[in-house]
Amino acid sequence: MPKFLDPVAGFGVTFRTMFRKVVTEEYPEHKKPTAPRFHGRHQLNRHPDGLEKCVGCELCAWACPADAIYVEGAPNTEQERYSPGERYGRVYQINYLRCILCGLCIEACPTRALTMTNEYELADDNRSDLIYEKQDLLAPLLAGMEEPPHPMRLGDQGDYYRGAGIGSGLDQPAERAGSTSIDTLDEGSTR
Ligand code: SF4
Ligand code: SF4
Repeated sequence: MPKFLDPVAGFGVTFRTMFRKVVTEEYPEHKKPTAPRFHGRHQLNRHPDGLEKCVGCELCAWACPADAIYVEGAPNTEQERYSPGERYGRVYQINYLRCILCGLCIEACPTRALTMTNEYELADDNRSDLIYEKQDLLAPLLAGMEEPPHPMRLGDQGDYYRGAGIGSGLDQPAERAGSTSIDTLDEGSTR
């Protein structure tokens, strides 16, 4: 091929590529959905009346291989009740600088208070914002839920742990697809 045609040949490659299907993922403009059981940001779930499922037992913190969870429990009183248990999680922190998203903490949780969502955008430009506090992790209040503290509205403690209110229209669906909350687990998913 004559040398003066070299630039034309080079542009030929460019033009051919322009009309090919793009294979790169155009993140963040187009976000690909994760697998349904992808382990993303944690969520602290609520009972159907808004009380917190976390009873401040610290089992999640003990199970964590990365020492990423810090919990301080405190007793509930009849005047100030946050969960149906004897205690609630007064302080709850997850350090996403340490967390490896392994899911051992949600396995350890006896009340299924702690589950994981599909949210994976956990980057930030400073270290302190990656230590999530309880208010960052609590599930949002849905219709029919009331911000604690308040009395148990669904019966006694046993009623809560047997799933009182579920199916009554007050139950809390998973915030995002793939969140392994008690409700989705009861529908047949496994941990
Ligand atoms: S997902 Fe794993 S590393 Fe992260 S807080 Fe839970 S147990 Fe710790
Ligand atoms: S999230 Fe579960 S395991 Fe962790 S302190 Fe609360 S109830 Fe206990």
